[in-house]
Amino acid sequence: KAKAEGRNMHRFFEAAMGLQERERRLIEYDLRNAVKRGEMGVVYQPQKRIDSRETIGYEALIRWYHPQRGEIDPSYFIPIAEESGAIVQIGEWVLRMACLEAATWDGDMTIAVNVSPVQLHGGAFPLSVQSILMATGLQAHRLEIEITETALIKDLNRTLVTLRHLKLLGVKVTLDDFGTGYSSLANLRAFPFDKIKIDRSFIHSVNTNEQAAAIVRAVVGLGRGLGCPVLAEGVETKEELDFLHLEDCQMAQGYFLGRPSAAEDMSAEFRVEPKRLGA
Ligand code: C2E
Ligand code: MG
Ligand code: MG
Ligand code: MG
Repeated sequence: KAKAEGRNMHRFFEAAMGLQERERRLIEYDLRNAVKRGEMGVVYQPQKRIDSRETIGYEALIRWYHPQRGEIDPSYFIPIAEESGAIVQIGEWVLRMACLEAATWDGDMTIAVNVSPVQLHGGAFPLSVQSILMATGLQAHRLEIEITETALIKDLNRTLVTLRHLKLLGVKVTLDDFGTGYSSLANLRAFPFDKIKIDRSFIHSVNTNEQAAAIVRAVVGLGRGLGCPVLAEGVETKEELDFLHLEDCQMAQGYFLGRPSAAEDMSAEFRVEPKRLGA
């Protein structure tokens, strides 16, 4: 009986696996035309100075409004797009949209764009950044490329060459989700990042878990020592923000400070009117 049960379980898992695989392939197929069909969007989440609460910039986050399935999470479809290579085209689209949007903003506000390792290595990334900056009129120092630690170590030497090229253009480079990857400290020595983002998993438990608090404290100190500003992501409560303020963390981002929103819903006060570049 146990054997038969085992066999049934095995069949069950096989069927489930098959379903998942089919599902992935359908998503992969739909991804190829999602930009063309106007299903993709970009939302913007504010990044603020903790002491003054001043908005210093925004992070661009992709959204996919699938006509049948509704909104699909980036953490689900981005890995599929990376595997199929569709991320190169999708990522370039996000970059162009984000730069176009940021070019309408007043002052020195920055725009942070997430870039996948596949995109980073996909041929001429710095060149495409350069041409997007030219086309949108956005100053290079207002663009920040966010890369995750895992992306960094995937092909360290090649990544470093590309990142240096970006720095030569005047573009800023941020280490995203810090603390979740491997060999974190070596990575920090390998490249002069302009900003470090502490992963939100640490921020979330900062007031209930002494270990998380100690890690956040240490990363802020590390950033100070390296002369590299630190941004805490995923700040959801006033208590978390108070802790970060006390620890002298410079910047924060999270639902407590502002949710991601569509460009047209953002406050218009900092827009340069009526010049809408590229329009
Ligand atoms: P990320 O770059 O670490 O972005 C932060 C994520 O945390 C976003 O999720 C954001 O909506 C969410 N978030 C912000 N504040 C809070 C908070 O207070 N609490 C919680 N629980 N979450 C918060 P999102 O938009 O679902 O994106 C997930 C990940 O997908 C991103 O993580 C990034 O790695 C990737 N991603 C998003 N857009 C792009 C893109 O255009 N290109 C690439 N390559 N990856 C992207
Ligand atoms: Mg990010
Ligand atoms: Mg992050
Ligand atoms: Mg994250």
